[in-house]
Amino acid sequence: MSQKRDYYEVLGVSRNATAPEIKKAYRKLALKYHPDKNPDDTAAEDKFKEAAEAYEVLANDQKKQRYDQFGHAGVDGSGGGGFGGGMDMDDIFSQFGDIFGGGGGGFGGRRGGGSTRQRTARGTNLRVKIKLTLDEVADGVKKKIRVNKLVNATGVTFQDCSTCKGAGRVNRVTQTFLGAMQTATTCPNCQGTGKIIDKKPSGADAQGLERKEEVIELDIPSGVEDGMQLSVSGKGNAGPFDGIAGDLLVVIEVKEHDELRRDGQNVHYEAFINFADAALGASIEVPTIKSRARIKVEPGTQSGKMLRLKGKGLPSVQNYGTGDQFIHINVWTPQNLSKEEQEVVEKFRDSENFHPNPDGKEKGFFQRVKDMFSN
Ligand SMILES: [Zn+2]
Repeated sequence: MSQKRDYYEVLGVSRNATAPEIKKAYRKLALKYHPDKNPDDTAAEDKFKEAAEAYEVLANDQKKQRYDQFGHAGVDGSGGGGFGGGMDMDDIFSQFGDIFGGGGGGFGGRRGGGSTRQRTARGTNLRVKIKLTLDEVADGVKKKIRVNKLVNATGVTFQDCSTCKGAGRVNRVTQTFLGAMQTATTCPNCQGTGKIIDKKPSGADAQGLERKEEVIELDIPSGVEDGMQLSVSGKGNAGPFDGIAGDLLVVIEVKEHDELRRDGQNVHYEAFINFADAALGASIEVPTIKSRARIKVEPGTQSGKMLRLKGKGLPSVQNYGTGDQFIHINVWTPQNLSKEEQEVVEKFRDSENFHPNPDGKEKGFFQRVKDMFSN
């Protein structure tokens, strides 16, 4: 930024130049470096932009004051923008009404053959939240929802704007002392949409729209996750003047399951078994997403053991297979033992077989469990 020239120097005026002097100096430079006079001359275009930027600051009392006090640092990013990046040609030409007078910018215009983009009016997006159960996530689901949205009013008709013939922009040819200049501006009749209302029924707003409740059927794919946002193209608010409709954004909220905890495509279940079942082995029933399942607990099962029901998890939303259900075994230690229970258990307190004796294999297993939960 250090190579940025002083704005007064750019315009060739002294630091105590008056407002009319600044304006006059800029007018002279703008005419000299105008793109219509210097076709395909990037050096001239740079000069043209540089002058416009200098004028933008020096013609504004507040910006000028900041610039006088702090230099470029005082006005950069304050709306004036940096040189070469801030002001585009449209911004510059929009200044010209002020500079050259003559109502509506008698002078100016984009370079010959410049594109005239049509601004298509687009409706705004609508956002809805939808609650799903894990069961619905597993299979995917069709949901009908009611939305209150802007639609084209009943009976409204549109026609091409007669002023711009549907283009949204108008070219104006003006005689100036530089010759005929062509200016492309947003059509004032249709605000750039290219359309105007033909028949406007009562109830239609100025853009031909009215609010209506609409039932929309959503096809929610399987495997979606809490917080995901699905976008249904064109189901948002209708665009003004028969423009393009916005999108309907569907935010997914997955309800917590009473017993299962979801982790991506997998689900986890904490099973509590009593000491006898752990020691002797048992068959226990566990909930699954769809129903329930029976699983076998081997004799001598330790607390912390993890069992897996393959494929009982959730599908991925991109259809990359299905997750599993993990069952975490917790051995329940009995509390407040009765006298009889105490006597029985006491008998085994010093039994060799009751002494904890984790072997290397089990340590490895615990490490694997730890690894599993740490990511
Ligand atoms: Zn128009």
